[in-house]
Amino acid sequence: MPAGREKSGRFRKVFVKTPGSRNVVHYRESKPSKTICGTCKKPLSGVPRDRPAVMAKVPKTARRPERPYGGVLCSKCTRQLLKDQVRGEAQ
Ligand SMILES: [Zn+2]
Repeated sequence: MPAGREKSGRFRKVFVKTPGSRNVVHYRESKPSKTICGTCKKPLSGVPRDRPAVMAKVPKTARRPERPYGGVLCSKCTRQLLKDQVRGEAQ
């Protein structure tokens, strides 16, 4: 019978084979969902996902791409936004 906290959805089941050849269920914390683009809602690449306690130990430069709107917009939407901004200024 799983403990109450293991039924919250925060944990995922992992089936582990013990040295005595018995399958037991272990509960490990599940990772959060992927970061999505603010415009087109596609999953962002170059943005790792893990629990906040683990992410706190990752350097800030490794958490998102080092460019304007990195970690917020995908590269395609960023390119389009910058183009629109420049073309808006020209007029
Ligand atoms: Zn996008």
